Amino acid sequence: MRSLLDFAGLLCTAILIFRPGVFALSDHSPTFGSNGFANWGSATWPLSSVGVPLVPQTTDHETLELLKQIDSKRIQSAIQTLVNFGTRHTASDTTSPTRGIGAARKWLLSEMTGLAKPSNGAMNVSMPCYFQAAQPSSGMPIGADVCNVQVEIKGAVDPNRTYVYTGHYDSRRLNNSNNMDDAPGADDNASAVSIALELVRILAPIVAKNPPAASIIIAAVSGEEQGLYGSNFLAQTLKNASVNVQGNFNDDIVGSGSNAPFDPQNQHTVRIFGAGTDYLTLPARIITEIIATGYQDDTPARHLGRYVQELNAGAAFVTDMDVALIYKPDRFHRGGDHESFPKAGFPGIRFTEPQEDFYHQHQDPRTQDGVIYGDEIEYVDFDYTARVGRVNLLSLWSIANAPATPSNFTYDVNIGFLASSLTTPADYLDNIIKLYWNTNPVDPLLDYYEIVWRPMSSQQWTHMVNVGTQNTTRLPISKDNAVFGLRAVGKNGKKSPATYALAVESEYFGS
Ligand SMILES: [Zn+2]
Repeated sequence: MRSLLDFAGLLCTAILIFRPGVFALSDHSPTFGSNGFANWGSATWPLSSVGVPLVPQTTDHETLELLKQIDSKRIQSAIQTLVNFGTRHTASDTTSPTRGIGAARKWLLSEMTGLAKPSNGAMNVSMPCYFQAAQPSSGMPIGADVCNVQVEIKGAVDPNRTYVYTGHYDSRRLNNSNNMDDAPGADDNASAVSIALELVRILAPIVAKNPPAASIIIAAVSGEEQGLYGSNFLAQTLKNASVNVQGNFNDDIVGSGSNAPFDPQNQHTVRIFGAGTDYLTLPARIITEIIATGYQDDTPARHLGRYVQELNAGAAFVTDMDVALIYKPDRFHRGGDHESFPKAGFPGIRFTEPQEDFYHQHQDPRTQDGVIYGDEIEYVDFDYTARVGRVNLLSLWSIANAPATPSNFTYDVNIGFLASSLTTPADYLDNIIKLYWNTNPVDPLLDYYEIVWRPMSSQQWTHMVNVGTQNTTRLPISKDNAVFGLRAVGKNGKKSPATYALAVESEYFGS
């Protein structure tokens, strides 16, 4: 029987793999992800009666309709305009009206201001700058202003809780210090900036009437190629203002899914990278606890990735995309603006295309020995970028209208454990887990809490349990074999990302 089940699972996966472009998912299907990245709810071990197989959360009709408004023609037009500035090197010209990063940011500010008009003031457009001194070793031959162009939307219920979309608009050549010659930067990273503009355009008339519950920032940032300057400036500014940033969604290189012979499947896939246990910023005692309990893959960034993957799965019939979670901080020996957020204490994830094209990134535009190099617009697939934008809009709008991620989720270290003395109560010895969490202050958006769990070897949550509005529960499952998360379900049905239980200092993973 067991082997028959295994065979059925393999067959199911095989069918999904060999039907590229088919993304229709039935709501009772335990297995989804067209390329088999996730096999949710299909775990056969550990055996447990705890909860029900996880069904991806669904998205309301109004939000799904918004996703359809992302326009690949406008994506193309924005990328072309940005490419036309010749170079957008962080230390390039700021006086010309047509060339260099100065002209690019002036255009972005004017464009965002225009797109934000239908918000009737609900969108605040600004261009904060700071002076970055020369750093010749990292590609800044001279000092220059680093300016972010950003739109802020204040939340109506929980305004200090904030979600940030970023995409860098600066570009580079092979020689990172060359601030004069052409660096078109179409895929890296005008693609992400074109999505930022679409997010502003589509949300402007919506937030005029219905602002989100939590706040949103949509930012085109600068200085990524020389040292993540703009994103670091933004993250540190938010930290200094005690803003509660619960997530950064950073798009970088989202211009093409083309990858023969695996088209069209990769054209419908976006990767999400995010840090596991962060050895640079976490206190040693927390790292010790994480290692001791095996929770290396349960950081806030990984939970954000799981959130996006699940949300997208429930809306894949509109996004036409699949989300591949990559359990790495970023690509091999690479980095990006999402790293600036954990440095400020906030979770951040990177969205990027499934198969990078190194001929057309960071390259000096040229033909050499018959090979064409350069990050030119003809290598961007505008429909692909538009689909990534749908996943971004879905994630940003849904998370900002969901309750906050619960805080201080922790587990009892005495119950469901070895006896400590002759007087240890007998029922403490049941092989169970007892969990606690904060319910104060009451989140006005909350309907109920939900425990999610998965076998240790599963990438995504496989089961869910409605635990009402209480602040504790006992579940008859061994904590050795599973990992548990807690999330908040809103009165509007929207669910927060999960947080996970840590025996010490769980506040790191909450609030
Ligand atoms: Zn980039």
